[in-house]
Amino acid sequence: MSETTPDASHAAHARDAADVKTWHREADVVVVGGGGAGVCAALEARDAGAEVLVLERAWKPGGTSAQASGQLYMGGGTPLQKACGFEDDPEEMYKYLVASCGPGADEEKIRVYCERSVEHYHWITGRGVPFKQTFLPVEVGTDPDTDDGLSYTGSELAYPFCEIAKPAPRGHTAQQEGENAGLMMMETLLAQLEPAGVSVQCDTICEPLISDHEGRVVGVVATVNGEEQCIRARRGVVLTAGGYIHNKAMLERYAPVTRRVRFRLGCDGDDGRGIRMGMGVGGDAIRMEAACIVVPFSRNRQFVKGVLVNAVGQRFCAEDLYQSLLGEIGMWREDGKIYLVLDDALYEQPQLPTEILAVGESFAELEAEAAIFPQGSLVHTLETYNRDAAAGADTLFHKDARWLDPLAKPPYVVLDLSLEKYPFWSAFTLGGLHTRPTGEVLDADGEVVPGLYAAGRNASGMPAHGYNSGLSLADATFSGRLAGVAAAAHTD
Ligand SMILES: Cc1cc2nc3c(=O)[nH]c(=O)nc-3n(C[C@H](O)[C@H](O)[C@H](O)COP(=O)(O)OP(=O)(O)OC[C@H]3O[C@@H](n4cnc5c(N)ncnc54)[C@H](O)[C@@H]3O)c2cc1C
Repeated sequence: MSETTPDASHAAHARDAADVKTWHREADVVVVGGGGAGVCAALEARDAGAEVLVLERAWKPGGTSAQASGQLYMGGGTPLQKACGFEDDPEEMYKYLVASCGPGADEEKIRVYCERSVEHYHWITGRGVPFKQTFLPVEVGTDPDTDDGLSYTGSELAYPFCEIAKPAPRGHTAQQEGENAGLMMMETLLAQLEPAGVSVQCDTICEPLISDHEGRVVGVVATVNGEEQCIRARRGVVLTAGGYIHNKAMLERYAPVTRRVRFRLGCDGDDGRGIRMGMGVGGDAIRMEAACIVVPFSRNRQFVKGVLVNAVGQRFCAEDLYQSLLGEIGMWREDGKIYLVLDDALYEQPQLPTEILAVGESFAELEAEAAIFPQGSLVHTLETYNRDAAAGADTLFHKDARWLDPLAKPPYVVLDLSLEKYPFWSAFTLGGLHTRPTGEVLDADGEVVPGLYAAGRNASGMPAHGYNSGLSLADATFSGRLAGVAAAAHTD
C-alpha cells in the first residue's frame, strides 16, 4: 500500500486475520477518518461505553468538514427556526427532501433524519456549536459574509418544490463571521475527544480492512511512518474516510460527468480509499455517479432575475432553483453549456470573474454578436420571457414573481457560464457504500457485512440526484452518530 492515489480497477482486498502476526493496537470501535462523520461516530460510540480509537491519515483530524462553510441542513421545527418565526414540521421536511434529493434519494434515511433533526440540533448545540438566532433574508443569498444562523439553502421556495411541501428555511450555519464556520465546528467537536477518553492517532493511513474466516471485519491495516500496523477492532470498524472527488481514475469509472468539473471540493483524503476498503470486503457501492455540482453565478443575487439559456438559446429551467440543483441540470442535461442574459438594470460586476460573450443594444444585435445560437432562437426566448414577466407569470418554468422583471434596459449582455469559460463550477461526490440508516454496510444482496459500518461521504447518504447546501455536513454528523452507536452495541 502506498500514499499514491489508488486506482479504480480493483477494490482494496481485505487481509485475512489468520495472516496477522501481531496486533499492534486494539479498541472496541476503530474509526477510520477523523472528519465530521468520524468525530461524531467516536463521541457516540464512547458515550455508549466503547473504547474508541480514531485513525486519521492527516497530521491532524478535521478533513473536508473543517474546510466547510459550517451549514447544516436541519428542520422540522428547530429552536432556531422557531426563534426566527418559521413553522416547520418533519413531514414537510420529508416531502421536500424526497422531492429535491431524487431520483434515487434514500427515503428511509431521510425519514429517520427528519424525525430526529430537532434532536440532532440539540445534540450539536449541546456539544457547544453555536447558531446565531437570526434569519438571513432570501434576497441576500446563501453564502454571504455574515454570521446569521438561518437561511434558505435549497430550492424550497422554487417551483415545483413550493407546491410539494410547505417551504421553510433549513440551512443552519454555525456562528462564525467569514468562511471558517466549519473549522470552528470541527475544533469544538474534536476538543471533546480527549476528555471523553477517545484515542486519536494521526499520520496513519488505513487500507485494507482485515476480516476473519467468517467474513467478519475485525480490524484494519494502517501505515504509520512507512511501517505497517495491524489494528484490531473488537466490536466494529466505522469507515468515515470521506468521498472520492480527488481520485481521477474512480471519477472516470463511476462519475465521468463530475470528472469534467475542474474545481474539486475536498481535502486530500477524498481519494476513495475508504469506499474501496468497504468494497474489498463485499460492501456494495451505490449512486456512485451522484455528486453535488454547483454553478455559483447567483452570488450576485440580482442575477437570479436574469435569463439562463442553453447552447440553442432556449431557457432550460427556472433561474431561482438552488445553485447546486442548477449545476446538476446544467451539467447532466445541457452538457455544461449555459449562458446568462442580463439587461443594464441587472448588470453589475460579477463577484466571480465571468467572461462576457456578447453585448447588444437589441435582442437581435445580442444574438448576432454571440454568434453561437441558432438564428432567431435567443430573440424568441427573450421576447417570450419579457411577455411573461410583464404579465407577472413565468408560463414555462414558474420562476417566482419576486425574480421576474422584463429585460427592458439596453444594453443587454450575455455572460458565458459554460464549463470551458467559467472555472467556478465545483463538485464533490455523494456516492458511496450502501448502508442502512444505522450505518451497517450492505453487500450486493442487501446482507449486512458483519463488523463494518460507514458514514458521511464514505457512504451513500440521503441525497442522490439533487443537493441542498448543508445536507452533507448534516448527513455526515448524523449518520456518524448512528454508526457509532451501532458499532458500540455489538457484543459477541
Ligand atoms: C469549501 C467547502 C465548503 C463546504 N461547505 C459545506 C457546508 O457548509 N455544508 C455542507 O453540508 N457541506 C459542505 N461541504 C461539503 C462537506 O464539507 C463534506 O462533504 C463533508 O464535510 C464530508 O464529511 P466526512 O466526515 O464524510 O468527510 P471528511 O470531513 O473529509 O473526513 C474524512 C477524514 O478521513 C480521513 N481519511 C481519508 N482516508 C483515510 C484513510 N485511508 N485512513 C485514515 N484516514 C483517512 C481524511 O483525512 C479526513 O480527515 C463543503 C466542502 C468544501 C470543500
